[in-house]
Amino acid sequence: MATAHTGSEPAPTGDAAISINGLKKNFGALEVLKGIDLDVAAGEVVCIIGPSGSGKSTLLRCVNLLEQPTAGTIVVNGADVTDPDCEIDVVRRHIGMVFQQFNLFSHLNVLDNLTVAQRKVLRRSKSEAEQVARKNLERVGLAGREASFPAQLSGGQQQRVAIARSLSMSPSLMLFDEPTSALDPELVGDVLAVMRSLADEGMTMMVVTHEMAFARDVADRVVFMDDGFIVEQGGPHQVIGDPQHERTKTFLSRVL
Ligand code: ADP
Ligand code: MG
Repeated sequence: MATAHTGSEPAPTGDAAISINGLKKNFGALEVLKGIDLDVAAGEVVCIIGPSGSGKSTLLRCVNLLEQPTAGTIVVNGADVTDPDCEIDVVRRHIGMVFQQFNLFSHLNVLDNLTVAQRKVLRRSKSEAEQVARKNLERVGLAGREASFPAQLSGGQQQRVAIARSLSMSPSLMLFDEPTSALDPELVGDVLAVMRSLADEGMTMMVVTHEMAFARDVADRVVFMDDGFIVEQGGPHQVIGDPQHERTKTFLSRVL
């Protein structure tokens, strides 16, 4: 575990990496997030579980303003991203996001996939960007694949390249939205292993996942969402092992 506190204790508020208060999100008449309060401490790993359509992706996407909140505030590393004066591009630079679909540039090889944003956004030199890229490829177990094109890699390898690409931007926190859901079962383990090592290194992570074993082993805290609300949260053994709410029990009985 990355931090000293365990999931059963409240996260320390002094060093919250992410502080979400009263977050609501509507799409037209559809209320998707109905009042979310959630703090994530620096170095904490929070896994978000819940049924399809409960608002998990929307919650993650609000954190880096891929969706504009309808109400509430979200403070990331001290910056209120919901403040119209916030320089969201600057805040986003510190937030890595990994999706179910890997979204690699298919016409670029692995090395170029990892260096293009470093050079354009962070203005790193070619040699520095390549050095950072190689270091992160090694970190995800893909040293030596610099010249491969995405189509030459398995889904699991592509997702690890996507993680390495995010890491190459030196993020202070990482958002994962079902990063293993599109993978063949035999490829899931390698991606989860990379995420586990990131957690061990102290990365702040919000992870939407259906991988209950991963959540149980790696999360400092598990948050169960249903119908736009946080229904229940706590340490993984509490929420997954001994859920208190009927809706949590029903959900877990379907996925475990
Ligand atoms: P989850 O990730 O938990 O499956 P989502 O956050 O993706 O849930 O979606 C929650 C609800 O919001 C769903 O009913 C979905 O159809 C709706 N929704 C998500 N994105 C949009 C959008 N851009 N426009 C309209 N409705 C959306
Ligand atoms: Mg989703």
